[in-house]
Amino acid sequence: MPAELMTLTVIAAVVAGMGLIVYFLPSIIDPDGTPESSVPAGEILHRVASEDTCHHAPEIGYTVDDAHAMMRERLDCTIDRCAAKRMAYTTLVESGRIVPASERHVR
Ligand SMILES: [Zn+2]
Repeated sequence: MPAELMTLTVIAAVVAGMGLIVYFLPSIIDPDGTPESSVPAGEILHRVASEDTCHHAPEIGYTVDDAHAMMRERLDCTIDRCAAKRMAYTTLVESGRIVPASERHVR
């Protein structure tokens, strides 16, 4: 009986110790909950958008014909880095002139 009681006491002590660690560890590691060099998400998104320095997209968008011309002019650009080519590509996809490779197997 004393051995079982000792085992239960040790288990209770270990569980209590782990509970204290889980409860207090976050406040010990990061008391404020925010990193010192945190940057708001909006600022990051703005910075990433402004890094599309290859070619900027027009605010009014492209006609389908303009989008075709833009795709031909921007052969060396990628839609990942070029806002103009990305807008032209999106215009052509939305007009049904281009079917993205990821959707081809469905149709
Ligand atoms: Zn470009």
